[in-house]
Amino acid sequence: MAKYVYDFSEGNKDQKDLLGGKGANLAEMTRLGLPVPPGFIITTEACREYMTSGALPAEVRVEVTMALRRLEDAVGRSLGDFHDPLLVSVRSGAKFSMPGMMDTVLNIGLNDASVQGLAKFSDDERFAWDSYRRLIQMFGKTVLDIDGDKFAHALDAMKHVRGAAADTDLNAKDLEELVEQFKTIVRDETGREFPQHPREQLDLAITAVFNSWNTDRARLYRRRERIPNDLGTAVNVVTMVFGNLGSDSGTGVCFTRDPSTGMTGDYGDYLPNAQGEDVVAGIRNTLSLADFEKLDPTSFADLRQAMRRLETHYRDLCDIEFTVERGKLWMLQTRVGKRTAAAAFRIATQLVDEHLITLDEALERVTGAQLSKLMFPQFDSEAKRTLLATGMAASPGAAVGQVVFDSVTAQAWAAEGKAVILVRRETNPDDLGGMIAAVGVLTSRGGKTSHAAVVARGMGTTCVVGAEKLDVNVKAKEIKVGKRVIGEGEVIAIDGSTGDIFLGDVPVVPSPVVEYLEEGLEVALAHAADEDTRDLVEAVDRILTHADGVRRLRVHANADTAEDAHRARIWGAQGIGLCRTEHMFLGERRVLIERLILANEDAEREAALAALLPLQRADFIDILEQMDGLPTTIRLIDPPLHEFLPDLTEMSVKVALAAERGETGADVERDKVMLAAVQRMHEANPMLGLRGVRLGIVVPGLFALQIRAVAEAAAQRLRDGGKPHAEIMIPLAASVMELHLIRDEAEEILAEVSAAEGVELHIPIGAMIELPRAALTADRMAGVAEFFSFGTNDLTQTTWGFSRDDVESAFFPEYTERGVISVSPFETVDRSGVGRLVRIAVEEGRAARPDIVLGVCGEHGGDPESIHFFHEVGLDYVSCSPFRVPVARLEAGRASVSGLGSDTR
Ligand code: ADP
Ligand code: MG
Ligand code: MG
Repeated sequence: MAKYVYDFSEGNKDQKDLLGGKGANLAEMTRLGLPVPPGFIITTEACREYMTSGALPAEVRVEVTMALRRLEDAVGRSLGDFHDPLLVSVRSGAKFSMPGMMDTVLNIGLNDASVQGLAKFSDDERFAWDSYRRLIQMFGKTVLDIDGDKFAHALDAMKHVRGAAADTDLNAKDLEELVEQFKTIVRDETGREFPQHPREQLDLAITAVFNSWNTDRARLYRRRERIPNDLGTAVNVVTMVFGNLGSDSGTGVCFTRDPSTGMTGDYGDYLPNAQGEDVVAGIRNTLSLADFEKLDPTSFADLRQAMRRLETHYRDLCDIEFTVERGKLWMLQTRVGKRTAAAAFRIATQLVDEHLITLDEALERVTGAQLSKLMFPQFDSEAKRTLLATGMAASPGAAVGQVVFDSVTAQAWAAEGKAVILVRRETNPDDLGGMIAAVGVLTSRGGKTSHAAVVARGMGTTCVVGAEKLDVNVKAKEIKVGKRVIGEGEVIAIDGSTGDIFLGDVPVVPSPVVEYLEEGLEVALAHAADEDTRDLVEAVDRILTHADGVRRLRVHANADTAEDAHRARIWGAQGIGLCRTEHMFLGERRVLIERLILANEDAEREAALAALLPLQRADFIDILEQMDGLPTTIRLIDPPLHEFLPDLTEMSVKVALAAERGETGADVERDKVMLAAVQRMHEANPMLGLRGVRLGIVVPGLFALQIRAVAEAAAQRLRDGGKPHAEIMIPLAASVMELHLIRDEAEEILAEVSAAEGVELHIPIGAMIELPRAALTADRMAGVAEFFSFGTNDLTQTTWGFSRDDVESAFFPEYTERGVISVSPFETVDRSGVGRLVRIAVEEGRAARPDIVLGVCGEHGGDPESIHFFHEVGLDYVSCSPFRVPVARLEAGRASVSGLGSDTR
């Protein structure tokens, strides 16, 4: 029988699947002997059963009773007792942290009787009533689904009547009265009394946490973060400790290193005389840890020690929630902390230097997504700028956009294609939609651990918080800065790395990491603006160099021109995996291809081909020169020919008009011929029509022209002393016979050119595997093809029967929402379907031709998750757009060492 409830002393950090991240880490801290208030965890399995059957398994109630009794015995108090009551918090905690997404209820166990007990025990009546009103407020909102504003308004009204500036100015009597008002709200809104029985409170709170797994905002967050919907959350029941028991109490959040820059040291915020979420909500301004040390040196020393202990134990940056109750430190939460991209690289190399982790592990601690973030441009510090204010740098990036003040407008404007910056005093979970839509988030309140900062960092959205000089008035839709007023729609620029806020647009400059990639380490270090930048560039260099050293996959680039090839090579590409040739028939050359398509006689066709040959050859010479010494895979023309001809409707109208006007002459005749050709070539479904190898077989001389151009270009390069490694790739083959036909033709041409030019040509001929039939007959295909390159875009289209352009916007959002797909198969390779075809082709291709070269040239070649898959199935290389090459190098390295690092999601 399943065990649904675990005491903290029974679990450990590796049980995140079962106990959730929060529970597993609370258990781990308990095991380490750190001061964690005792408690227990209800497993994610109980949540999953609750979700499928709609009811809690009966055993859960029994096990909760057992655990509660053990807890009561351990602390010597009982839940809701009239004298010295035990109070607990009921906290959600899923496998992956979802900051601010789900609910927590504090002070469970308080009722009309135990509030008296609490007052007596604590000798603080005000505290007791404050705790009770917080319980009704939180419980009302999260468990009973009452609009939170109702409570907030009652609280504000009370403050107004009493002339109180802050909550803390209300006295015990005021709060007692407020409790009555809150209870009335509960009665009016739900038709029942606020539940007085502590166990009923507990049970209701537990199901509320399970229910919060499926709120809209939680689902939205999971979709974005690619967290599966069926994991469920655990529930943690934790003995309450109180940070709101006076000036020798308080609550705080801290990091063992700076999560935004990665600098070593202790970072955090502390709020004296406060409970729970007061810090994160940015309601009052917080103290730094340095001030905390002055205030309470003993608790600070204990915290310092716990921080160090945790960082040593987890061998990574930890973030921590703690509370001080009358001078005693309690640890309430820890986890391996989220961090910015720059911090990830810096921290990983710092930990290597501190001999806490190996370079392999350091490589696992950073991601391709983080590297690509570092490649974004930054604001130009030389440009003329109007600085409005400086807040706290919470999540890096350079964002320029129009000011909006609410989530709804942010989403609406973003949908119109506008870049918006969401400006709020502080954010809360209801702002999530707007935060996702915005290019940047700016708040006037809160610290580095505020909701806005934490969520923006998680999403990689540029964010500045706590810009106190800004007076943000959301109702009036304006920001006041001194005498200046900024309204909705005005453009501002925010720098998430410095906290600077500028009026108007600010130009951007390339990032130092891009400079490093392009110019090398020394130049980048010499140009670096400051020590921080040097540090970062060095960290990136060390980790990327290590990735290059350990990776098995080669990284090629998709490049169609000499310029792209040049860029790709600089960024570390070890070849061209896909050189498309169709663009070589556009522009001025279009008339030649038109002539070829329209030709009725051999002579006409040959003339057109003869005119194209030198142009194509020149293209290839340039590219082969750029890629000297490296494999260059040239794909023969792929798209349907009608793409080179005028549009059918346009042509029909033109001809019809001419007929109506009775026009005649050579031009009109040519148009008629053209229209006939366009009509002839018109296809109902061009993606599956006359294209790729089919064209090569049907249109005489077309592939031959391209093959000859490649051969002659290679010969020319050889004569010029170069080392050309051209390869010819045949697109869209489904049958080995298609390959045979083209290969025979190609071999003849290669032999001919070889003889004519007096050089020996080695030009491998291979197949693009992009149809299921090609993959399924890979053993035969490999008999003819010297290499395979998986065209996973078309392979995905043809495996799923999706026409990408038609489906992605039409119904993918609905498919994701309904759980048919968790991520677009065009973004990340679908392992079980498309991936299985790749696997079959790899195995059978290798069996038939052991030295066959295997690569991928679809867009998946630059997608981190897909790269790991291609590593697993044993491809030789991935090919991606030049811009993605560094990311692919890093991810290929990570794939080689995978399984060593920690999960930092
Ligand atoms: P989240 O997952 O949103 O961080 P938590 O479960 O950590 O939510 O709880 C919200 C706040 O309440 C945090 O500041 C936490 O430290 C505080 N808190 C939770 N449980 C207790 C407790 N038993 N005693 C005191 N404070 C608590
Ligand atoms: Mg927390
Ligand atoms: Mg294709």
